[in-house]
Amino acid sequence: MLKLYNTLTKKVEEFIPIDPNEVKFYVCGPTVYDYFHIGNARSFIMADMVRRYLEYKGYKVKFVMNLTDVDDKIIKKSLEEKREAKDVSTDYINAFFEDITKLKIKKATVYPKATEHMHEMIDMIKKLVDKNYAYNIDGNVFYDVKRFSEYGKLSGKNTEELEVGARIDANEEKKDPLDFALWKKAKEGEPFWDSPWGKGRPGWHVECSAMSCKHLGETFDIHAGGNDLIFPHHENEIAQSEAANQKPFVKYWLHFGFLNINEEKMSKSLGNFFTARDVLKKYSAEAIRMFFAQAYYRGPLNFSDDLLTAAEKGLEKINNLVDKVNSEIKKNNSGIKPEFEFNSYYKKFEEAMDDDFNTSQAVAVIFDFVKDVNRVVAPLDNVDVSFYNDVKTFLTKTAENVLGIVDFNKTTTGDDKLTNDLIELLIRLRTEAKQNKNYQLSDSIRDRLKELGVILQDSKEGTTYKIGK
Ligand code: AMP
Ligand code: ZN
Repeated sequence: MLKLYNTLTKKVEEFIPIDPNEVKFYVCGPTVYDYFHIGNARSFIMADMVRRYLEYKGYKVKFVMNLTDVDDKIIKKSLEEKREAKDVSTDYINAFFEDITKLKIKKATVYPKATEHMHEMIDMIKKLVDKNYAYNIDGNVFYDVKRFSEYGKLSGKNTEELEVGARIDANEEKKDPLDFALWKKAKEGEPFWDSPWGKGRPGWHVECSAMSCKHLGETFDIHAGGNDLIFPHHENEIAQSEAANQKPFVKYWLHFGFLNINEEKMSKSLGNFFTARDVLKKYSAEAIRMFFAQAYYRGPLNFSDDLLTAAEKGLEKINNLVDKVNSEIKKNNSGIKPEFEFNSYYKKFEEAMDDDFNTSQAVAVIFDFVKDVNRVVAPLDNVDVSFYNDVKTFLTKTAENVLGIVDFNKTTTGDDKLTNDLIELLIRLRTEAKQNKNYQLSDSIRDRLKELGVILQDSKEGTTYKIGK
């Protein structure tokens, strides 16, 4: 029985989907004005693991992630770079797909873009205006927070307390400091769309309410995002959707802890970030996923080179077995089939994941499994291929398909002789470059091989290599 912590009820609850045949899952996606950082990647990867585990359990999952392609930050960047906002967002949408592919994040069922859902957003705002939950002041439409009596139910904030800290900017016309924009009147030089309130563009919060409703319905199962989105973004989404549709919006709210750097949230605005694509130059996708999996998804986690290196090292143990399994399956030997309780490992893996996605325990089960398989086969001369097939099935279903920390299709040594010879040649040239103190060239050979997925390892005995990021 899967249990998960629901931010809305502040309790660990049993997961029961509304439609037993299909789980409907929405995750707030990126604002596409830059490369995403490794903090964003934590949220995307943890959502991916949750989605993959639901699929492991046999659920069909409709997984929707929005792309915010109209926003102040995109407009700012387009003005700085003197090009259309659309060109900025298209570039970073492409970069987003490249990066999530490298991170082994499964594609969503749909990636709705804000600019392609103007009609739905305008419709929702109209409904809110008609029902008196929103008001128009000179082309700007605001949500009237006081009208929604349950405001604060997700974040646990109450409106009186919020009111104390809030204030209205001199250039804002809204009635109350807590009210937020549903429709923003167009300013000179900004992209705009026509609406019943004049030319303008939607606010960020209404994007997610309108797009989730369009793709998943008025009430759906899981809505996820990073902790920073609980307030105001998700609180506002609830206010909009429940007022417009007069139905509960979401059954389970899932929030991911921050990736911190020196105990501070990694974020673009603080400038203390590493892009995911830069981190991927140094660590494999599997190591990055392992680093995240080894921490509880709701808690904070400090970005740490030591932990990433440790994750990479830990993976070697698993990958050594993966290599062995691959080569044994190729050999196709018949022989002894050792006694091995595969079922007990499946059970332990499921118990860990059913316990509010305890991925670090799930990783521990994988390590135990690897250790126990190695122990069982060590004294045997001839192991039957069927045993290795079972080992492969277990690791594929758990470590590869759910956690994404293993890839059976990656080989760690070159398969053909020419590849191996060419790599050896480059290693010799690099050694010569080093001896000639041409470090620029020697580093360049190492880095460019790494980009191709060939990792050089220097030791006292010389340089060896591994294929596979
Ligand atoms: P953004 O592009 O800033 O809207 O963020 C995309 C996703 O990344 C959202 O779900 C955020 O909550 C999440 N996020 C942003 N910063 C971090 C961080 N430091 N750690 C974990 N998740 C984050
Ligand atoms: Zn959202």
